[in-house]
Amino acid sequence: MELFFYFFIFLFGLIVGSFLNVVIFRLESGEQVVRGRSHCRHCRHILEWYDLIPVLSFLALGGKCRYCGKALSVQYPLVELATGMLFVAIFNFQFNETTLYFPPSTFHPLLSTLYFLFIASSLIVIFVYDLKHYIIPDKIIYSAIIVSVFYLILGRIWEAGLPGSGFGSPASGVLGFENLIILFNPFIAAIAAGGFFFAIVLITKGAGMGGGDVKLAFLMGLALGWPKILAALFLAFTIGAICGIILMLLKKKNFKSEIPFGPFLVLGTFIALFWGEEIVRWYTGYLF
Ligand SMILES: [Zn+2]
Repeated sequence: MELFFYFFIFLFGLIVGSFLNVVIFRLESGEQVVRGRSHCRHCRHILEWYDLIPVLSFLALGGKCRYCGKALSVQYPLVELATGMLFVAIFNFQFNETTLYFPPSTFHPLLSTLYFLFIASSLIVIFVYDLKHYIIPDKIIYSAIIVSVFYLILGRIWEAGLPGSGFGSPASGVLGFENLIILFNPFIAAIAAGGFFFAIVLITKGAGMGGGDVKLAFLMGLALGWPKILAALFLAFTIGAICGIILMLLKKKNFKSEIPFGPFLVLGTFIALFWGEEIVRWYTGYLF
C-alpha cells in the first residue's frame, strides 16, 4: 500500500517535471507559460498526447522527434526523473522523519508538503536555467520568495490559533513571543545569507556571483532557516570548488571562465533540506 502511494507520488512528480520542462523552454523563448500547445523545438510540429508521456515517450522515440527526426534534449527525461525522485523524497521525509518541518511545526502537514514540492520545483527550474544560461530567472525566484513569505507568516498565525500548540493564546489568536522568535528565524537566515552574497558581489565587483545568487541565497534562508542554511552554503561552496577543480583538470574551463553558482546553491539546498540537521550536529560536534 505504501509502495503504491509512493509510486503514485513518483508519477505525479514525472508529470510536474514535464510541466517544468515547458516552463524552462518558454522562459527561454519568451512565450507565455500557460498558453499554447507543446511543439517540437526544431520543426515546430504540434505534439500529440502520446509524444508527451514523461520519460516513456523519450525512450520510445529513441530521443528523436517523431516528425523531423532531430535529437530531443536529454533535459526532458532528466528533469522529469529528478522531479519524480525529489517528490518521493519530500513525501518520505515529511511523513516519516519530519525533518523537513521548519521550524518544528504543527502546521498542516499537507500544506507544508505542498510548500516544499513548490520550492523543489522552483529550484529545479533555477538549476537547469542557470546551468544553461548563467542567469536565474526573476519570475521564478520572486514568486518563490513571495510564496515562502506567505507560507511562513500564515503557518505561524495558524499555530498561534491552535489549541495546545504551546504558542500564543489560542483564544485570541495573537502570536506569542516564542512564536515570533520562530517566525523571525527564517527571515534572519534569509537576510544573513542574502547579505553574505551581496557582500561577495560588492567585493568581487560581480566577477564571480551575480544578483541572482543574492536572491537565491535569500530564498534558501526562508526555506531552510537557521542553522540549516549554514549547511547548505557550506555544501554549495564545497561542491562548487570540487567541480571547479575537476573542470580545470579536464581543461574544460580555465580559472577565469565563468561557472554558474546557482546549480551548486540548489544542490546544497536539497542536501541541507533532507540532512541539514545531521550535518550541523556533526560539524559542531567535530569542532567542540
Ligand atoms: Zn521535430
